Amino acid sequence: MAPLNLDKNTFPQVKIGEMALTAMLSLCEQAAHLETGGILVGSYSADGALAHVNEALGPPPGSQSTPTEFTRNTGLSKALQRRWPEQQYYLGEWHSHPRGRTSPSRQDRRQMAKIGNDASYCCPNPILIIMARSRDDWTLGLWVLIDGKLRRAKEATCDA
Ligand SMILES: [Zn+2]
Repeated sequence: MAPLNLDKNTFPQVKIGEMALTAMLSLCEQAAHLETGGILVGSYSADGALAHVNEALGPPPGSQSTPTEFTRNTGLSKALQRRWPEQQYYLGEWHSHPRGRTSPSRQDRRQMAKIGNDASYCCPNPILIIMARSRDDWTLGLWVLIDGKLRRAKEATCDA
């Protein structure tokens, strides 16, 4: 797949599929007070204006979780390769902030900028989903890297 370059004037929309949402919520519940996360897999519309997140994978073995930090082990390329024939690609990252907000930390911003610049990801505009807990509810923060900066993205209606 040719790397997608989003038109700077077209604010991208992101559609989060039910399967991805369910997976993130259940991984967040399992991880309880620890951060957890993984990668987002899906596809883009032909014009690139809509990203469709179909799957949210859990942490690969060797990832590190603390209450305030999640470091994903870079062991997901196999999982991604298996999905290429189905035209499902790396779209970005997700992780939880069990006691935090839906906004990215300074480290989150740095990490996403690094991914956008890393040719091996083929993803100049990676998506970042942050699942933040307040009391018993999880709120989803949706971000897209544009021109090296994370900006809040619009969520298109969820697929049932
Ligand atoms: Zn974070």
